[in-house]
Amino acid sequence: AKELGKNRYVHYDSELDARAVEHAQLAAELSHALERDELHLMYQPVVDLPTGRIVGVEALVRWEHPRDGMVPPLHFIPVAERTGLIVPMGTWILRTACRQAAEWQERYGDAAPDRMSVNVSARQLLEPTFPQTVAAVLAETGLDPSHLTVEITETAVFGGGRAVETVAAIHALGVSIALDDFGTGHSSLGLLRTCPVDVLKVDKSFVDGVTGTVEQEAIATSIIEIAQALGLRAIAEGVETGAQAERLHTLGYRLAQGFHFAKPLRSTEIENLITLAEDD
Ligand code: C2E
Ligand code: CA
Ligand code: CA
Ligand code: CA
Repeated sequence: AKELGKNRYVHYDSELDARAVEHAQLAAELSHALERDELHLMYQPVVDLPTGRIVGVEALVRWEHPRDGMVPPLHFIPVAERTGLIVPMGTWILRTACRQAAEWQERYGDAAPDRMSVNVSARQLLEPTFPQTVAAVLAETGLDPSHLTVEITETAVFGGGRAVETVAAIHALGVSIALDDFGTGHSSLGLLRTCPVDVLKVDKSFVDGVTGTVEQEAIATSIIEIAQALGLRAIAEGVETGAQAERLHTLGYRLAQGFHFAKPLRSTEIENLITLAEDD
């Protein structure tokens, strides 16, 4: 029994080692991804439900690994957070998204998506200089702050340090703040009192409920009521069917995002959509 226990221990240990090696390798490869030009951004439209117009896009990062192909962000963002690489990577994401938004504003004017949304992780909010980075990127790209939204999660704000002050400083630049995955955390409502927020992104799990029972619909209904009462915009995330879109509209939602409207797209595909809408 002792033998077996020992073997088991050894087996478990080597499995842990294998995972640690895999993690270290991913971290090492990721550290070169930026300079090797393996990252790019996709843009998912945010749609105005009454008109169907694209009023914004959310930038979503992609890593094209030379050997493994596309690595999903849920796989490498946590690694980048742990190593701290998310800080330079996040600045690259912000700069690339703002440059793209400025280019669209210049080229298409009113026909361009009004807002560019960029995801910012907990680790970035721990950097006291992050608001200066945002200001520098806006200055460098010439993007008006009213066209930029920064998406944060509740966990990121409670990640410690002076995250709320950091968010307030970004807000003071004229940048909008969106609370991502709204409703999934422990104190989403409490956060609305302490942190400047302009947009609630209603998590897909609640959107899935709107075509279910009255009980399942209740949370999506409550969130739109809160948003309206507080004068915030609400974006329903992960809308996959026409029935959901219709129901959300009836409940009072104006803005939605999801595969029903469009998947995350390449910049050229967004440009085709802008041109199509212009021709209407
Ligand atoms: P998120 O910010 O909540 O982004 C929404 C995710 O849902 C995206 O996955 C998007 O492709 C997916 N999605 C959109 N519509 C639908 C739908 O109708 N159905 C379903 N099932 N999914 C939908 P993605 O691009 O794989 O990103 C996953 C997460 O990785 C993001 O969640 C965000 O937390 C993180 N992430 C992605 N890009 C960035 C980035 O540039 N910076 C940071 N810090 N995190 C990022
Ligand atoms: Ca997001
Ligand atoms: Ca989300
Ligand atoms: Ca999420």
